[in-house]
Amino acid sequence: MTTTNEAHLIRSNRKFAKCFDDGDLSHLPAKKYAIVTCMDCRIDAYSAFGITPGDAHVIRNAGGSARDALRSLVISQQLLQTTEVFIIKHTHCGMQGLTNDGVNATVVKNLGPEAVAELDAVNCKRFDWLPFAELKQGVRDDVAFLRSSRAIAGEVHVSGWVFDVETGKVSRVEK
Ligand SMILES: [Zn+2]
Repeated sequence: MTTTNEAHLIRSNRKFAKCFDDGDLSHLPAKKYAIVTCMDCRIDAYSAFGITPGDAHVIRNAGGSARDALRSLVISQQLLQTTEVFIIKHTHCGMQGLTNDGVNATVVKNLGPEAVAELDAVNCKRFDWLPFAELKQGVRDDVAFLRSSRAIAGEVHVSGWVFDVETGKVSRVEK
């Protein structure tokens, strides 16, 4: 059975592939940077941040978390030659103001305590959903996390930004 969204994807892709001419792009990002931003459905990262396919890595997760993105960032820098990171969180983010206890309670209610236990077992410690309390501070904390990480080279340029989902404007938080 094909879901409505599957059918939409197939239809849209048929159109897309007809005019596709990016087949000769390098797998190495031409402009040598990576963006970490939220998975929020309102953010069109390519349009909002001026990214052309082939230019940059776009790493997305709930909250635009640098900690969550660390695995991809190290691959991006060590294997794929990027040297700059933009952390871009956004206004009205669903991860702002959440608590680990709150998310755990929802998961336990819907899936049972075994689900949380399985996540806790991944790193032998309480699973961290990586919420943040205040937006700009959340950006600053993520920038500081990358700058102090031994897995991120000292010469990698890291900056922090906020995208306003109401105006579409991005503003710098941390140089
Ligand atoms: Zn978000």
